[in-house]
Amino acid sequence: MASLRHVVSRRTLALCDTKLGNISQVRYLNLLEYQSKVLLSENGLNVQRFKIVDSPSDADNLHSSFRADEYVIKAQILAGGRGLGYFDNGFKGGVHVTKDPDAIGPIIKKMIGHNLITKQTSKEGIPVKKVMVAESVTIMKEKYLCFLMDRQNNGPVLISSPAGGTDIEEVAKTTPHVIKTIPIDILEGLTDRVAESVADFLEFNGDTKMKAANEIKKLWEFFKKVDSVQLEINPLAETSTGDVVSIDAKIQFDDNARYRQKAIFDMEDKTERDPREVIAEKYNLNYIGMSGNIGCMVNGAGLAMATMDIINLYGGKPANFLDVGGGVNEEQVYQAFSLLNSDKNVKVILVNVFGGIVNCATIANGIVAACKNMKLKMPLVVRLEGTNVSEARKILSSSGLTIQSAENLDDAARKAVDSLS
Ligand code: ADP
Ligand code: MG
Repeated sequence: MASLRHVVSRRTLALCDTKLGNISQVRYLNLLEYQSKVLLSENGLNVQRFKIVDSPSDADNLHSSFRADEYVIKAQILAGGRGLGYFDNGFKGGVHVTKDPDAIGPIIKKMIGHNLITKQTSKEGIPVKKVMVAESVTIMKEKYLCFLMDRQNNGPVLISSPAGGTDIEEVAKTTPHVIKTIPIDILEGLTDRVAESVADFLEFNGDTKMKAANEIKKLWEFFKKVDSVQLEINPLAETSTGDVVSIDAKIQFDDNARYRQKAIFDMEDKTERDPREVIAEKYNLNYIGMSGNIGCMVNGAGLAMATMDIINLYGGKPANFLDVGGGVNEEQVYQAFSLLNSDKNVKVILVNVFGGIVNCATIANGIVAACKNMKLKMPLVVRLEGTNVSEARKILSSSGLTIQSAENLDDAARKAVDSLS
């Protein structure tokens, strides 16, 4: 899925990007294309029939149970640009079309177990574990359609272009006038008039225009129903039979809606995620893994950002963003520590807590329990301030642990960086 998201809402992500350096995206649940298509199909949208293959041996038996005049074979990874991508074994293209059933197996074998590299992945690419084999359709024209929760517009927008397909990023750069953004009033919803005018702008004609307007309205209803923050269909295609079909779908979901979209969140494939983040999520810690070597444990997102900035200022590199939050308990402090301690990149741990809601003694007890239990070997720098701080300091000093205590944030960051050498 060539994606416009980073073009359109760059501003939304800007803060995150500058502060967190190498973090590419805010955390929203992402699904693989085939999972998105299951949801779309369940909600009455037009998608092609497909089968999923997850082992090369299944590939050879596939055509006995799945027949079509033409097949499209698509590697499933959580990134777009697959059509123009390539594999680490030299095989070109994450999307293939063939009429020959006997060609499917060999193609799948070149995909599964290999890394697919696209414009949207790192240069190592992402290992392919699943491949979709779908009934191909004859595409007359590829259009772009996306519903997006857009910060600039304080609400949903509908972005569309008649020039969809794998080159949409190029279209955005060179001919932005063929991309239209329409804000949608969330209470009024997507009216028939707007849906029809978008179908018109997308150059659907005759009967197909009404079909397209209908499909667009259904997509809007789906977007709202599943608490999506981005629903991108690229391409939305007009087929030779005059149908309007979602050929590729990229959906992101609002993490705050997890509690009411449980079935969807349970679909998540966590194997592509940073394993540290999966553990952190289990203990309700706000954690984002990074590539430095100073493990940070901080309370409050703002203070966590500031801590990372000051570490950078003194020439260090944070290994993570970790906000333990105001309501943190000893168990969570323990788990946070365990996470930092088991990260082989972490060479020093820096704790920076400004206790407002959080009780410093809770943090101190968690630290002591963790250090003793894990026999912490690396240097530990602790800066505690605020609620119950004198009690906390007593707990730390009587623990017998080697802890460098810091006066303030500046001192803490400097000590952490110094103890690396
Ligand atoms: P990505 O966006 O990751 O490159 P897509 O699913 O959008 O992957 O596929 C890339 C291109 O492959 C599409 O723009 C389309 O031209 C072609 N394609 C994808 N699926 C089909 C299909 N079912 N039938 C015909 N062509 C297809
Ligand atoms: Mg696409």
